[in-house]
Amino acid sequence: MTDVVVAAATSGDRSERPAGQDAAEVASLIMELQAVGLRLETEFANSRRGGAGPSDSGMLWIDGVPVTVPPNSASPYVLRAEKNGQAIYLDDAKLASVSNTTRPRFYDLTTADGIPYHQIALLHLDSLASTVVQTCNYWGNSDQCGFCGIGLSLAAGRTIAKKTPAMLAEVAVAARDLDGAVDATLTTGSSVAPDRGALYVSRCGQAVKEAAGLPVEVQFEPPQDLRVLDQVHDMGIDAVGIHVESFDPAVLARVAPGKARTGIARYFETWERAVELFGEGRVSTYVILGMGEDPELTAERCRQAVDIGVYPFVVPLRPVAGSLMEDIPAPSREYTELIYRKVAGFLARRGLSADTAVAGCARCQACSALNLVQQQQSKPLLQISPRPAGSTR
Ligand code: SF4
Repeated sequence: MTDVVVAAATSGDRSERPAGQDAAEVASLIMELQAVGLRLETEFANSRRGGAGPSDSGMLWIDGVPVTVPPNSASPYVLRAEKNGQAIYLDDAKLASVSNTTRPRFYDLTTADGIPYHQIALLHLDSLASTVVQTCNYWGNSDQCGFCGIGLSLAAGRTIAKKTPAMLAEVAVAARDLDGAVDATLTTGSSVAPDRGALYVSRCGQAVKEAAGLPVEVQFEPPQDLRVLDQVHDMGIDAVGIHVESFDPAVLARVAPGKARTGIARYFETWERAVELFGEGRVSTYVILGMGEDPELTAERCRQAVDIGVYPFVVPLRPVAGSLMEDIPAPSREYTELIYRKVAGFLARRGLSADTAVAGCARCQACSALNLVQQQQSKPLLQISPRPAGSTR
């Protein structure tokens, strides 16, 4: 293993997070931005287009908080270049500083056989992320998940179809040493194999962990035989994401027919076994808001998931250009905040938070304000400004 030399060239520093009133304002701003997006007067230095799941966004540190924000030319909020970086403005009022948005250094490296590192993995704020198999048996047919862009980045030549454990290990060491990556989040398209791709993504995670020493989350669909989870655990994986995407069965059938056939009950069975192996808080699921779901049912199922030790990572829909749902607007800040508040209460009562997640999306939190709301739960969130009419995506 290479000695750890963390340059933190591109990652922000979570210890710089604001406290008290300032933290409430940042939480409020982030919910606004994730609802209406950000108009760009300068470029995102680090962004992601396509990939598995709801993905398109710029990646920023806003006052020390990692955030992903979709670009939107109609947003009243503007990303503007400043002498020493970037900042977010509403009209002429500066709302927040944006820091450490330089291009990751490891993106300039290539493997010995000429594959650019950035086609193998990307840096999502301080997490190394890769879709290790960029194909999915649901893609391109009637089962395709409406919010997903896994085939888009492959078709555009921004990535390669399959990453090997050795490639990922090599890139992980560079991302850790050159750019301060603190964990790895590895996902995969779903497979027709009985393990649904869980074992391959876990072998990749094992290689990353052995080479770079980073905590690793791997993400996959419920395997046919739950003993696969034991094999994943035996490989030293720290956390797993098994993503139901929506708790509303009617919505799941409409937006993710392949996952709907698995059935929500099977997700709960899989999570229960996974929690036995990995521990409470180290098993998570994406729950995407804004797809027409019943909010009461969604909150109730989140409570049931939390009650068995699962972290429901609640995120607003992020329309991906080129995906089946590219024209569906993100949900309003008011709607997501309502669900965040309920789920944050469940998590707090169970003693779960981003800290207990150890690795992966629930640890990173950049695509959601859930953990910020949990931290602020006892205080009223401030309204920064009413959003101008017609600005909602
Ligand atoms: S299962 Fe759905 S979200 Fe996951 S990669 Fe396949 S199409 Fe995308």
